[in-house]
Amino acid sequence: MRDMTMLTGTQARPLGYSAPLTPEQEIEARAKLIQALQMSLDPNDVLAIFFKHLQAIIPMGGIQFRFPNNKDITKLGRDALHHCDYRLTTDEGYLGEIIFNRSKRFIESELTTLEILLGALVYPMRNALRHQAAMQLALLDPLTRLGNRAALDNALRRELQLAERHHHELSLLMIDVDHFKKINDQYGHTLGDQVLQEIARTIESVCRETDISFRYGGEEFVVLLRKTNEMGARTIGERLRREISTISIEKNGQSIEPTVSVGISTRASGQKEHISDLFERADEALYRAKQAGRNCVRDLSDVVTA
Ligand code: GH3
Ligand code: MG
Ligand code: MG
Repeated sequence: MRDMTMLTGTQARPLGYSAPLTPEQEIEARAKLIQALQMSLDPNDVLAIFFKHLQAIIPMGGIQFRFPNNKDITKLGRDALHHCDYRLTTDEGYLGEIIFNRSKRFIESELTTLEILLGALVYPMRNALRHQAAMQLALLDPLTRLGNRAALDNALRRELQLAERHHHELSLLMIDVDHFKKINDQYGHTLGDQVLQEIARTIESVCRETDISFRYGGEEFVVLLRKTNEMGARTIGERLRREISTISIEKNGQSIEPTVSVGISTRASGQKEHISDLFERADEALYRAKQAGRNCVRDLSDVVTA
């Protein structure tokens, strides 16, 4: 969809507008762009390459790309008064919407060039989006739809760096289902899976949007709590424990009421710490929670003060 800011082709080309490309120049620009776009399978890189090439041909303030999920938006350059929108589609479906911005109105010959260049963007963008979807799927636990262990490793590395750079606190909750083996043995593996799904849903509903949850292993979950100190982590850990203890699943007239034990570790502000340190402390705290009778939350300060 184009908007009403474009000028008709009959108007003279004012100063500062790009000259229309000759057919040979169009072919060359398109070929160069196609070649450059093949360099990456990251949708944001693809957009950045496209924007750079575009700017060399048509003066452009900025572009925005709205991804097909309608949530994520990438902005490059700056926003400006005049804009022109296109929806990108292939016969396989919708790829997203691209919005071009600049301070001067677009003229017809520029729009023609723009459309030729957009034609070169469509398939590289489709490939990049497919690749991104496959990568995301590879980081997802199929049973609970939480991030898997590989996703946790990536997130933890990123979050620790961010916390160090901005001197934020970061806490980690390690959550382990109590006597889960018994649930499996008594009610079967399928019911066990259902319990894990229910616990995952509860974890997600209790956590804030900035917290990220993962299925770390079989019946173990990890939640990363951004900008959260020990006190905050204890509060959230306790809320999680309590909410999970209210889950009740009926099977053959019996109700299964799972509980969890939670171990907490916190990265102290201004302190350099390795991923494994944070994990080891949470694991040790979890062990203490199990020792203390399960269905409880512990961090290592309990050990010191006890
Ligand atoms: P504890 O309170 O000490 O944590 O005892 P537990 O029984 O929970 O711990 P244990 O490590 O002995 O048992 C974990 C069980 O989780 C064993 C394994 O068969 C089961 N499990 C692991 N992954 C899955 C899964 O995807 N689905 C189901 N249903 N069970 C799983
Ligand atoms: Mg376990
Ligand atoms: Mg367990």
